[in-house]
Amino acid sequence: MHALHLIGLIFVFLVATTQLQETAAQAATASSENTTNRNSWMASSIAKMETELTASYGDSQASRVQLGLRQISEFWRTEDGDAAVFEDFVRTNFAGDQVTLDTMFTRYQRLLEQLDGHMHEINREFRQQQDLDAGPALPFDEIFAGYDPSAHVIDDFFNNKLAFIVLLNFPLTTLDQRLHDGPTWTRRQWAEVRLGQRFDKRVPADVNLAIGQAAASADAYIAQYNIWMYHLLDNQGKRLFPAKMRLLSHWNLRDEIKSDYADSQNGLAKQRMIQQVMERIVTQTIPLAAIDNPQVDWDPYTNEVRAAAARDSDMGSNTRRANNEREPDTRYARLLGTFLASRKADPYSPTAPTLIDRRFDEDRELPETRVRAMLEQVVSSPLVAQTAKLIQQRLGRPLEPFDIWYNGFRPGSKYSEAELDAMVAKKYPSAEAYQKDIPNLLMKLGLSPARAQYVANNIVVDPARGSGHAMGAEMRSEKAHLRTRVEKTGMNYKGFNIAVHEMGHNVEQTFSLNEVDYTLLKGVPNTAFTEALAFVFQGRDLELLGLPAPNAKAEAEKTLNDFWGTYEISGVALVDMGVWHWMYDHPQATPSQLNQATVQIAKDVWNRYYAPVFGKKDVVLLGVYSHMIDAFLYLPDYPIGHMIAFQIEEQMKKAGSVGPEFERMAKMGRVTPDLWMENATGKPVGPEALLEATGRALAATSSAK
Ligand SMILES: [Zn+2]
Repeated sequence: MHALHLIGLIFVFLVATTQLQETAAQAATASSENTTNRNSWMASSIAKMETELTASYGDSQASRVQLGLRQISEFWRTEDGDAAVFEDFVRTNFAGDQVTLDTMFTRYQRLLEQLDGHMHEINREFRQQQDLDAGPALPFDEIFAGYDPSAHVIDDFFNNKLAFIVLLNFPLTTLDQRLHDGPTWTRRQWAEVRLGQRFDKRVPADVNLAIGQAAASADAYIAQYNIWMYHLLDNQGKRLFPAKMRLLSHWNLRDEIKSDYADSQNGLAKQRMIQQVMERIVTQTIPLAAIDNPQVDWDPYTNEVRAAAARDSDMGSNTRRANNEREPDTRYARLLGTFLASRKADPYSPTAPTLIDRRFDEDRELPETRVRAMLEQVVSSPLVAQTAKLIQQRLGRPLEPFDIWYNGFRPGSKYSEAELDAMVAKKYPSAEAYQKDIPNLLMKLGLSPARAQYVANNIVVDPARGSGHAMGAEMRSEKAHLRTRVEKTGMNYKGFNIAVHEMGHNVEQTFSLNEVDYTLLKGVPNTAFTEALAFVFQGRDLELLGLPAPNAKAEAEKTLNDFWGTYEISGVALVDMGVWHWMYDHPQATPSQLNQATVQIAKDVWNRYYAPVFGKKDVVLLGVYSHMIDAFLYLPDYPIGHMIAFQIEEQMKKAGSVGPEFERMAKMGRVTPDLWMENATGKPVGPEALLEATGRALAATSSAK
């Protein structure tokens, strides 16, 4: 829905992917040259400095001295200097008393805020021509927009040793420590932990480059994987889809299945045909000639390919012979490429030695075993069968596998879109009108007049080129930006709905930066949290227009829609996890073996959790997600996001007033997801709120009949 916002998320994700973890012994194991160097003088230098520093600062500092020396020795490379340089560095930079340590902490915190803030400011300015409705963008604007001035900051900080000073004085931690000890840490301790984590990676440039190349190659493969729908033939040679329709796998194909529910004539035949196409993609029995090529007609059932008997485009290749020679497992070759590249970073990451560990322990900060249990709790819930029964009633036919994408749960509205458009356009003829109304909107959500004005003063409204997005600040002297689309005729309802969502992001961004006690803790645990908070605002958009809130029926429909979506994506996530484990268990696998394994894993998950509901076994649809190929085990984030959204929404309902509760939650900053959620709702992250709401929605829906 928010294209630019999404690009931001993907960008953050790719940065996280390429800056793979480096802690502890990795620098040592990284190159034999380094190891030799360390062996020759490092041990004696460490022993010497330990004695010297403990003598200077007393026994109370002994454990800090040991930890700091161990930490920097693990990152120190030949080019960082010899024994004399090492010892001098330690002697000069160890903060051996509390006053010096406090000064160091405070100054690093302030200067890193300035660094982040100004880097972000440059990024925002450089993107301006692309992001804002401010006249045409020229080709060079794209280069400015793509430039990241902070790309080499970590390398620079190791080279000038500012990173080593942190590692000498502040602790690195494992997820285990953060989960077990985190709840008892002071806020200052948490801030020190996040300070340390900024410098817990020093991956060699060639490894990052290999990962980036594998990601780019998988992206390019995904981005060109189109199906020309007019050229799909059924068993009577009939074309079900219109000319020129070109759908990207898998997102567009899936969305076409969703919109085909509205086609009472051919919808079912179209949906079945798309399912057949998707299965051919997963199993790689799709003819190579049928991919992104309008020059051939293809019957996905018999798999027969012929030169196109009708033309709707000059694109595509005549040179690819119209035969049914299959795609040669390219899908799995690309996936394997991302695995093999990720694995190169493993030796630099002894505390999280696989990409699976890095994803769960570092990026999500939720252990894999817990995530798996949460997903299984959703897919094996008895509520699935009840919801399926309801869908079956509404469709008037038994479910088919593609109904995992059923989209018939609709909140509906008392007002037509045109009526809402008119109301919004009158209220907000311009972006300035919306800006002026922000304090008023925030008061409607329960903030006091003073608080509402304070937050509004930290938000700048800009006219967006696209549909809208939110861009927070990274330092307190900067403001959050709300980008919203206002037509010449005034804002429309869709634009308003998005603006309210983005305003939710801005309010979160303001509280979690300006009101958090340590700026090293600014933000939220991960993107699922900021999205959940934005949805809280978005779900109240009618009330903000002065209209009645959605009624119980509308709310039940929305909940069931979310539940069914979470059921679908949880299965997809379990397949993603299964496939990555299989790759780690079979590092020598060929693309063809990975194909077979993925198909089997997709079938296994289906047979366990979906076949009982759909009455059909061995379906491979759960393996069709494109992000499974190019996104390095990203898919579990989606179902976790749904769960978090329900937890926060339920708490808002319990609390009654949104505003003060929102501020209380957002001020917690970036601690672990569980600790954040305990503070927010009294419970750790989990699916219970989603399941409870679904139970209530099902009861309300059946009693309404
Ligand atoms: Zn958002």
